[in-house]
Amino acid sequence: MEIVAYGVLADEQPLLQAEFERVLADRHDLRCLGIFLNRDTVPTAAGHEIVLSSVNDTLDAEVLRALAAGGTRMIAQRATGYNNIDLTVARELGLAVARVSYYSPYSVAEFAWTLALAVNRRIVRAAHRTREFDFRLDGLMGRDLRGRTAGVVGTGKIGAAFARIAHGFGMRLLGWDIAENPDCLALGMEYVEREQLFAEADLVSLHVPLLPETHHLLDAKALGLMKSDAILVNSSRGGLVDTDALLETLRAGRLSGVGLDVYEEEAGVFFLDKSLEVMTDERLARLMTFSNVLITSHQAYFTEDAVGQIARTTVANVADYLSGRTGDDVLVPPPAG
Ligand code: NAD
Repeated sequence: MEIVAYGVLADEQPLLQAEFERVLADRHDLRCLGIFLNRDTVPTAAGHEIVLSSVNDTLDAEVLRALAAGGTRMIAQRATGYNNIDLTVARELGLAVARVSYYSPYSVAEFAWTLALAVNRRIVRAAHRTREFDFRLDGLMGRDLRGRTAGVVGTGKIGAAFARIAHGFGMRLLGWDIAENPDCLALGMEYVEREQLFAEADLVSLHVPLLPETHHLLDAKALGLMKSDAILVNSSRGGLVDTDALLETLRAGRLSGVGLDVYEEEAGVFFLDKSLEVMTDERLARLMTFSNVLITSHQAYFTEDAVGQIARTTVANVADYLSGRTGDDVLVPPPAG
């Protein structure tokens, strides 16, 4: 049968294709599409029992119903997060869903640090200047990290990897999570209420999943608690930060730097070339105007190591489904019988 993959990026395709050929090519074909799966594109999935999705595909109730009506029975998400898939509706429709529950947390943790260091030391502004042969240092002053406080919001796999790097810089570690991580405690992390973390941290990095309880975790109140010269990094999910409240905070001249790899309204924008179009998202356009804000396009996971692991696990999830096995990556099992 032909299996169809949506939103496949140019650098991802050879890794996904190679893994597919290694495991499944003698029985099945893989069709990689660059388009994202959504209400407009879902007719292209008709007749495909297995669909591979990713973070910026929209698998809401309408899309899932169209998939089920077109004969889809299994969705393999090429990511850890699955907030773009309505699992309740998938279950009702008898659509099996699997995801990649583990891949290199270092890919994301190292990238969160890349953003933190770049905004702290004004690297983008510095690089623009030196390209113009402007070698002045005005406005480029950063701060030492040693002895300052890192607030890690969510101390799971990625948060713990981030905390280990912070420990290497000699930072004091504060953590907030529903569960304490022994690896973080061993680094000397102190778990505190989130209000205390926001108030005391010089650097706040977000690593909790997006859930109803964590939606707009960084709202006006939380941002108001933060030190006016703190750095905020979000490499988890855009919905954790209330963009309007962040814009107000930045307009007021608060926060010394913000690094965002994710954005509330990134679906339909991130991963795409929008350079020849009028930018109609006013909030994204406004964010871009702040020289202390650095935005990247959901690329934290994008290392050879992580993308290779995602390809291997996705193909293994498909192979499991085809042979009736279920593993830890199954979010919705196929209907019994
Ligand atoms: P994880 O499951 O190992 O860690 C998540 C942590 O959040 C856990 O310690 C958990 O206890 C905590 N948590 C869950 N619900 C909570 C709540 N309501 N309040 C407080 N803490 C809560 O996950 P991970 O692998 O570390 O990934 C973290 C997040 O990073 C993912 O959910 C995803 O959104 C994001 N992510 C982003 C990228 C990217 O490319 N930017 C890539 C992968 C993952």
